[in-house]
Amino acid sequence: MYPSRFDYVKAASFAEASAALLQGGDGAKVLAGGQTLIPMMKLRLLRPELIVDLGGIDDARDIVVDDDVIEIGALARHADIGNEFRAQNLCPIISDCALGIADAQVRNMGTIGGSLAEADPCSCWPALLVALDAAVLIEGPGGTRALRVRDLLRDAYTPDLAAGELITRIAVERAALDGIGAFVAFKRAAPAYPTASVALQINYDGDRIAALRLGFGCLGLTPLAFDAASDMACGKTVTPALIADIAAAASAFVEPIDDAKGSETYKRSLAAGLVTRAFNVVEARRTGAPAGETHQYYG
Ligand SMILES: Cc1cc2nc3c(=O)[nH]c(=O)nc-3n(C[C@H](O)[C@H](O)[C@H](O)COP(=O)(O)OP(=O)(O)OC[C@H]3O[C@@H](n4cnc5c(N)ncnc54)[C@H](O)[C@@H]3O)c2cc1C
Repeated sequence: MYPSRFDYVKAASFAEASAALLQGGDGAKVLAGGQTLIPMMKLRLLRPELIVDLGGIDDARDIVVDDDVIEIGALARHADIGNEFRAQNLCPIISDCALGIADAQVRNMGTIGGSLAEADPCSCWPALLVALDAAVLIEGPGGTRALRVRDLLRDAYTPDLAAGELITRIAVERAALDGIGAFVAFKRAAPAYPTASVALQINYDGDRIAALRLGFGCLGLTPLAFDAASDMACGKTVTPALIADIAAAASAFVEPIDDAKGSETYKRSLAAGLVTRAFNVVEARRTGAPAGETHQYYG
């Protein structure tokens, strides 16, 4: 089906886009990669009267890696982010996440900012970014503000953005990425959202765990960060018993609901299995052993 008729503006800056959005009111929508918005329009689940295209904004796709922080422009595409980090052999948890999203078409068009703004509990970036306690920069009629991703995504499909506000950048502290990580997911097929996903980043002090970050996607109405896992792990070496303890605690911590992808019980067990897999991938990366696939397809 074709979308219903709409007006179209191509913004040259976030400020211009924000002004156009405000002027368009409830009937206005911004377009980033279009990978969620356009299918919804074609199905006529959304009928915006005005589309404000962010695609012409300069410098909104840049990826800046410095000693203290990694900043990613909101319009950076999944494929560009994943390929950049893979090419630099840096932070494999980021390339795992980016290059596991859907298929080449979606990865080549979809943006990190659009993924956060959509606030789908099954999206991959939110699970990773709450685990790393990242922040977003937001620009709107009231100026700019920074917000933790955890605070942006407090409910499903409803990001904490006021009228006219846009996500402009994503910032991750380098300290959150110390050590080795992995992003793993269990999916029906590549062009489908995961049934569940897990982000795990471990910082080691010698053989012992100095800090651990654990996040979940699709196992609640929002992405979940399991901060208590760090207390369970700190000062310990990675053993099968520790992995089993954290997997069991994670299974109890997540908040899955019964749906077409599986029952609550099934998803709790999937959470434990994915935590175990994430530990195995991280340990393999640490020791240089073959790590295996991070994304498993069961369809
Ligand atoms: C077949 C298919 C499979 C998919 N599988 C996965 C998957 O496995 N994992 C995954 O994580 N995602 C998946 N996705 C979603 C994909 O990653 C989308 O790219 C993402 O959800 C939306 O990003 P976008 O740039 O395309 O945004 P758009 O579709 O352009 O916009 C989405 C929404 O966000 C708003 N918006 C966009 N950018 C901003 C901004 N900067 N500030 C404020 N609001 C903004 C728009 O107005 C719109 O409401 C899949 C999508 C499809 C179609």
